[in-house]
Amino acid sequence: MTSIFRDPAGFAEDQLTGFTALYADRLRQVPGGVVSHLTDRPQVGVVVGGGSGHYPAFAGTVGPGLATGAVVGNIFTSPSTAQAYSVARAADQGEGIIFSFGNYAGDNMNFGLAADRLRKEGIDTRIVVVTDDIASADEPEKRRGIAGDFSVFKVLGAAAAEGMSLEDVERVGQAANANTRTLGVAFSGCTMPGATEPLFTVPDGHLGLGLGIHGEPGIRDVAMLPADELAALLVDDLLRSTPDGAGSRVAPILNGLGTTKYEELFLLWSLISKRLQDNGLELVEPEVGELVTSLDMGGCSLTLMWLDEELERLWRADAYTPAYRKVRSGVDQLHAPSDADESAASIEMPAPDATDAARQLGVRLRKALGVMQRTLTEHEDELARIDAVAGDGDHGRGMVKGCTAATRAVERAPAESGVGHLFSRAGQAWAEQAGGTSGVLWGSGLEAFGDALTDSRESYTAADIAAGVRAFTDAVRDLGHAELGDKTMLDALIPFSEQLSARVEDGLPIAWTAAAERARRAADGTATLRPRVGRARPLAEKSIGHPDAGATSLALIVTALGAWLPETTNPKEGDK
Ligand code: ADP
Ligand code: MG
Repeated sequence: MTSIFRDPAGFAEDQLTGFTALYADRLRQVPGGVVSHLTDRPQVGVVVGGGSGHYPAFAGTVGPGLATGAVVGNIFTSPSTAQAYSVARAADQGEGIIFSFGNYAGDNMNFGLAADRLRKEGIDTRIVVVTDDIASADEPEKRRGIAGDFSVFKVLGAAAAEGMSLEDVERVGQAANANTRTLGVAFSGCTMPGATEPLFTVPDGHLGLGLGIHGEPGIRDVAMLPADELAALLVDDLLRSTPDGAGSRVAPILNGLGTTKYEELFLLWSLISKRLQDNGLELVEPEVGELVTSLDMGGCSLTLMWLDEELERLWRADAYTPAYRKVRSGVDQLHAPSDADESAASIEMPAPDATDAARQLGVRLRKALGVMQRTLTEHEDELARIDAVAGDGDHGRGMVKGCTAATRAVERAPAESGVGHLFSRAGQAWAEQAGGTSGVLWGSGLEAFGDALTDSRESYTAADIAAGVRAFTDAVRDLGHAELGDKTMLDALIPFSEQLSARVEDGLPIAWTAAAERARRAADGTATLRPRVGRARPLAEKSIGHPDAGATSLALIVTALGAWLPETTNPKEGDK
C-alpha cells in the first residue's frame, strides 16, 4: 500500500518536489527530471531514467561519480520524449550525452526520439540499454533491465567523471551491460498510489521467480524456499548464464525490492556470498540494499557484473549521490584483527577444581536445564502473546534462546566441572544470547546461584539450594531495582523463594513443589497489578487483566522442575 499521497495522479511530481528541496545543494529540478550541479570541468552527460516508483532509481543516483541527470516519468511509466530531451539539454556540457535506461518499448522509443532530436541540434548522443534480467528472455538483447541498471549506471558515471570521451563512456557502458546478469524473486505484489488492489499477487507460501520491476508477475510461482535454498537458486541460475570469457571477479548486488527488510537481505547475503565464493568467484565491493525498487513489492534480486580491470576500477570509484555514496578515504587505513588475535580471545579457561558432590550436582543441573528448555519451548507462543499485551512480544523467544544457550554452554563445559562453575557459565551464556530485560536478569540470577553454591562443598542440602534461590532473587532485585507489586518476575520469584526457604525441612521435592504452587498463584495474581517498571509501564492500562510475562515464565519453569525433581532424587537422599 501507498499510505501517503495527495492526488494519486500527481504522486511522482509531488515526491520530486520534496526530493529536490532536500538535495538542493547538489542537484536541481528541471522540466522532466533532475540534473546535478555541474563542475568546472566539462564531462560527458550521463542521463538515466525511467518511470517513478523505483527509488533510488533513478533520481537518487544523480551526483558526482554517477548520473549527471535523471528523467523522472510517472509511476512505472516511461518518461516522454520531451522530458528526456529537456533533462539531456540541461545535463549537456559540450562533451555529448549518454542515455541509459532499462529495455522497455516505451523507454526505447522516447529516449530514441529524444536522442534523434539532440543529434539534429549538434549534441552527440549515444544510447546504452540495460538488458540484465535473465528470466525475461533467452536472447540477451530482448531482456528487460532491472537491478543491473545500477551496475551499468555506476560504470557510466565513473567513466564520465574520469573524463573519458563519449566513445569510451559508451564502450564501457556496453561492456558493463554485456557482463551483467540479474535474477529476481517476488514474495508479494506492489500497489500503485491510490489503488486498493496490488498489480499482481503471489499466492500465499509461494514466491514469484523472475519478476519484473513494474508489477510484471514472475514467470513462474514456486513454493516458498528456506533461505539456504533461495540463495542456491539465485546463485546457480545466474551462474548458468555466465557471460562467455568471463573472469572470476564479480561485482554483486543483492537488491531489496521495496518491503524486504535489510536484515533479511543481510541473512541471505551471508548464504549467497558463501555460495559464490564456493564457485570460485571473488566478490568485489558487493552492495546489499535497495538500489532499484518496485514500490512496495516484497522480494529481492541478485545481480552479478563480471569485471575486467577497467570495469572494476569504475565500479570501485567514489560516488556521491542522494541514495548512494561511496568514499573510500579512511577505510583503507583500517585493520581487521588477524586470525591470531581472534583465537586469543576465545581461549577456553579450565574449569576450577570441584568436589565430587559439586560434580554430581552439576550433572543434575544439566538435566534440569533440559526440563526448563522443553517447558519454555512448549509455552513459547503463549509467553509471546502475554508479552505482546503491553510489551513487545519477544519474551517467549528470548527465554527459549537464553535457555538454549545456557544448555549449550553447560554441554560444552569440561566434564569435571562442578555445579557452581556450570551455573555461572549458564548465566553468562543466557544473558549474552537472550538479550532483553529478562535475559540479563535471568543471567545474573543464575550466576549468583552458582556463586552461592560454590564447587567446594562436600555435600549439598536442600538448605543450600534454598540459599541459592535467595541469591538468585537478590541478584534480580539488585539489578532491576523492582519490588514486590511492580508486576515483574519478582512477584512470582519472591514468594517462591520465601516458601522454599520456609519449607526446607520437608526435603527438597516437597518444599520445591509447595513453593512452585505459590509462584504459580502469584504469577496468576499479577493480572490485577499495574506495571510500575519495564517495557509494559507506558501501556499500564492495557496490561491490567493480563498476567506478567516474566512472572508467568518463572512459574512455568519452577512448576516443571517441581514435577521432575522426585524422579531424579535418590530416595535415600530425599532430603537433599
Ligand atoms: P523486554 O522487556 O526487554 O522485552 P522480556 O520480554 O524478555 O524483555 O521480559 C519482560 C519481563 O521482564 C517482564 O514481563 C518482567 O517480568 C521482567 N522485568 C522487566 N523489568 C524488570 C525489572 N526491573 N525487574 C525484574 N523483572 C523485570
Ligand atoms: Mg519483551
